[in-house]
Amino acid sequence: MRNLKNKIHKQKFSEAEKKKSFSGKLLRWHKKNGRTFPWKETNDVYKIWLSEIILQQTRVEQGLPYYLKFIELFPTVQHLSAASEEKVMKAWQGLGYYSRARNLHSASKYIANELNGVFPNNYEGWLKVKGVGAYTAAAISSFAFNLPHAVVDGNVYRALSRYFGIKTPIDSSGGKKIFSSLANELLDKKNAAAFNQAIMDFGATLCKPVSPDCDRCPFNTDCISLKKNLIDFLPVKEKKTKITERFFHFFIVKTAKGFLFEKRNGNDIWKGLNQFPVIEREKFLSDSELKKTPEYKNIFTENKISLTRSKEFHQLLTHQIIRARFYQTEISTYSGNKFLVVSKSQLMNRAVPKLIDQYLKTVYFGGTKKTNTIK
Ligand code: SF4
Repeated sequence: MRNLKNKIHKQKFSEAEKKKSFSGKLLRWHKKNGRTFPWKETNDVYKIWLSEIILQQTRVEQGLPYYLKFIELFPTVQHLSAASEEKVMKAWQGLGYYSRARNLHSASKYIANELNGVFPNNYEGWLKVKGVGAYTAAAISSFAFNLPHAVVDGNVYRALSRYFGIKTPIDSSGGKKIFSSLANELLDKKNAAAFNQAIMDFGATLCKPVSPDCDRCPFNTDCISLKKNLIDFLPVKEKKTKITERFFHFFIVKTAKGFLFEKRNGNDIWKGLNQFPVIEREKFLSDSELKKTPEYKNIFTENKISLTRSKEFHQLLTHQIIRARFYQTEISTYSGNKFLVVSKSQLMNRAVPKLIDQYLKTVYFGGTKKTNTIK
């Protein structure tokens, strides 16, 4: 690192020189160091679109198996549009941000039915597709049609803010404009697809959020943040994310005909997924407190119910920590109409939150006995 610092001080580049040489240096680096993924090796617009939706807010390592599963289950936009919502949500289960799956499905119907299966071939056309914003429209129109639109994602914000030493917050409207116009200025217009792929790979593998590999970086002789020790402070974000904690009590109620179940609706996490009857509060309730809640009385009409409580499960979402306990019981019949009654195979075929899936696989059907009995 000391040699690197000496090298930096000996070299001086003007802003204009840095901008001019950026794309050439980046593309040369990418030729030797680019990552290979199946969606990079194709011109198939459907596959490119699918990969971009799956990779929004998701690391490629996590998204890859989902991409392969979707291509196998729904090889064309017509297959996707004809599939049931339940099947699409089940295939998406565990990937999070479920509105992406709902939008993808509804967009597939728009393309298959209203556009007669013909994909938009430009940026503006893609912006009309549900679930596609400025970033995704730029990515698809450059990767599929080599159109000159620069992508600006988290990797690009990080790399550009560090290299050029830009301290404007990336989540401010001014910051968004600055980074977008800089990325478009740097873009190699004739090689838009290669440039976009290169800058994203560069941010993901070299100019990483923590411990960037500056020794191997082609920009290390004139990187402002390296020169001024600003790496850990860039990019700047204006808003601090508030994390909330939520406490769910799920009831696994087995009757002679199956399990009580319902679909999650409303504008909340896991919309469109299925769940067991649930009571949510700002903290875990004691067993006697639970039995006094109105929701409990909606589930159970009998007074004397014996419940078995699981250990705590939790799931981290971007802005929330979900803590859950599962209460198992068996009753002879369910006479209410709030919940569906589903068989075990129906239960396993429906999309559920990761937390419920984990509980079912490890405890309920998996045989782990970490439970307390409540009378
Ligand atoms: S020198 Fe380091 S901080 Fe600067 S662009 Fe390269 S990897 Fe990022």
